[in-house]
Parts: sequence; C-alpha cells; structure tokens
Amino acid sequence: MIDRRLAMELDGLEGFPEPKLSLEQYETPGEVVRILLSVADREFGLECSRVLDLGAGTGRIGIGAALAGACEVTCVEVDSEAVEVARRNVKRADVEDRVEVVEADVRDFEPEDQYDVTVMNPPFGAQRRGADRPFVEVALEASSGVVSLHRAGTEEFWKRRARELGATCDAIGVVRFPIPAMYPHHRSRIRHVDAVVLVFKKVD
Ligand code: SAH
Repeated sequence: MIDRRLAMELDGLEGFPEPKLSLEQYETPGEVVRILLSVADREFGLECSRVLDLGAGTGRIGIGAALAGACEVTCVEVDSEAVEVARRNVKRADVEDRVEVVEADVRDFEPEDQYDVTVMNPPFGAQRRGADRPFVEVALEASSGVVSLHRAGTEEFWKRRARELGATCDAIGVVRFPIPAMYPHHRSRIRHVDAVVLVFKKVD
C-alpha cells in the first residue's frame, strides 16, 4: 500500500550524515516519495516491477518502491557515505532480497538490464546548472518510463528535451519541497522550493 504509513516508515530511515552541498543531498520527504510512487504505480504499475532509482542518496525512493511491491530495485549513488547509509536502510527496511545499491556516477552507469520504470529525485541543478540532465538521459536509456522531480519552471525545457530523446513528457503537479537549513548559507530553519513531478514515456 502506497499510503501515509509507508511515508512515515521512510521518514524513520537514516538520513545523510553530513549532507554535501555540491551534490545537493537533501532527503526526499516520505510524503514526496509517496506521491512519486503513486504516480509510478498509476502510470506504469509497480507490482513485481523492476525499478531504478538514480541519485538514490539514502535509498528512500528505491526502498519505498520495494515496500510498494516492486520485485527488483537498483539504487545508483555516487557518494560512498550515502551508499553506506542506503545499504543500512535497505537492511533496516528488510528489503535486502530485492534492493541492490550500486556505487557509481550516473554518467558512467551502464545498466545491465532494462527497467520498467525509473523513479528518482535528481539534483535540481541549484549548484551546477543542468545537473539533472544526465539523470533523465540515462533513465530513458535504461527504462521505458520515468517519474522524476525537477525544479518548477523547467517543464517546457523538459518537454522539448524529451522530444529530442524520443520521449513524451507530462507535468503531473507541483509539490512543495522542504529543504532544512543544514547548510551555513541557509538562514531560515526550513525553506521550500517548488518542485514539479514529471512523467517521461519513451515513444516506440
Ligand atoms: N532520494 C534521495 C535524495 C536524492 S538527493 C533520498 O531520499 O535520500 C540527490 C542525490 O543524487 C544525492 O544523494 C547525490 O549524492 C546524488 N548525486 C549527485 N550527483 C550524482 C551523480 N553524478 N551520480 C550519482 N549520484 C549523484
């Protein structure tokens, strides 16, 4: 069941020990993961699916997908400390039999198999413009469908880019994404950024 309980369980998992600004390490809140997984389930069906989570961080999305019925999940994350956290979280959530955490830069990741869907929360490109672009490109190579979160306002860019990549792109809705003040340059305790949920589908 993709419900509030799932969101709460994910919120109880271990977070980033020392979030790295350059990698835009913010945990995806359980409620946002719940929304992404609900969209993925409605559009592509999660039951016994194969799911890819790129820029998996602490593993919340991939673990959530496994708890929601996916049979095989691959989490890809570049930061070795986050990889360790994700592996501990996989154990804690008792989904070791179906979730693998791979340490790799998304740009070098060569998927061995095809996935049914990629569900991901890539960096928004706040630190490095266009940081989310390789994530969408790799996701569309590795899977027929993608559900991902991007900075609001980038919808038209993504619709154009999707056409170039042989895919369609639909904006499903905007979520307010809380960013805790964990970095010195954040003055208020919690800031929010508007993020848009995008669904990409490969056109065959
Ligand atoms: N869903 C995750 C948070 C994702 S934040 C969670 O809830 O924990 C974005 C993640 O992308 C970060 O963990 C960051 O380390 C990772 N990342 C950034 N650039 C990357 C790259 N080039 N390849 C793989 N992972 C990357």
